[in-house]
Amino acid sequence: MPRAVPFAGRRAGPAALKPYLDRLRARFDISMLEPDPLAATRGYADPGDLETALLFAALFAYGRADLIQKTVTRILASMGESPARFCENIARRPAPGWMRGFVYRFHRQADLAALARAVGKARNEHGSLRALFLAHDDPNAETPLPGLTGMARALRRYAKRDTTAFRTLLSDPSGGGASKRWMLYLRWMVRKDGVDPGPWHGAISTARLVIPLDTHVARVARRLGILNRAAADWKSALEVTRFLRQLEPADPVSYDFALCSFGKLGYCVAQVNKNRCQRCDLAQVCLR
Ligand code: SF4
Repeated sequence: MPRAVPFAGRRAGPAALKPYLDRLRARFDISMLEPDPLAATRGYADPGDLETALLFAALFAYGRADLIQKTVTRILASMGESPARFCENIARRPAPGWMRGFVYRFHRQADLAALARAVGKARNEHGSLRALFLAHDDPNAETPLPGLTGMARALRRYAKRDTTAFRTLLSDPSGGGASKRWMLYLRWMVRKDGVDPGPWHGAISTARLVIPLDTHVARVARRLGILNRAAADWKSALEVTRFLRQLEPADPVSYDFALCSFGKLGYCVAQVNKNRCQRCDLAQVCLR
């Protein structure tokens, strides 16, 4: 007897989707983390080291997940026990030999060194990246874009490197793109649970976070009717986030790890596959 599919071809509303997404969120825990750049930052206890390590992990989070994790692991290992102190020192005394020959996709050692110098200068002048973010943030804004934009622009000024590649690495969050890497950074910094370490937990409201919209989240969101736009840009990130706020007003981004992992780990792939769909936990609310 075939299973009844109550929402077949129809968009399920927030109330109907909530139990499915809640189950998915509960199923994807820390045991499903790897490959992920976050895995490379485990082991730091000091908030300064965490905010520094997680920034490198987030900004290099483009490309293949396993290569990102390997690259971030290598960068952090080269910084010794304290990435925060390493960056503060390199801002005072350049270390031209550090990570000589480093290449990741279109970024080179000079980009990495400029980023380390910028982080160090920001920490030396403001005390922490958190203080730099808060100096620019507007707690009444719907999203944390003001704080992130101010922080990114300040880091660019400190870096004194104005190449196309570096502008891509340290992108301006207000440029209209989804700014997935910046939103991922804030998810890690502000949320605190079994997956997200949350060294800035309490500094800004989790209700203001925006989903880090990548290709996996966008695909699953479109199949559930959460996202109706073709572009994976800022407007789409807001569309998904506003829908998730109806399910979890205080913490909409709490669904991100499950939605992303569901796509990244191959439970829902680009090519729709009948066998996979028949076993899928979301089949009853999927538009496909
Ligand atoms: S695996 Fe199939 S049923 Fe499940 S969300 Fe993807 S397309 Fe829909």
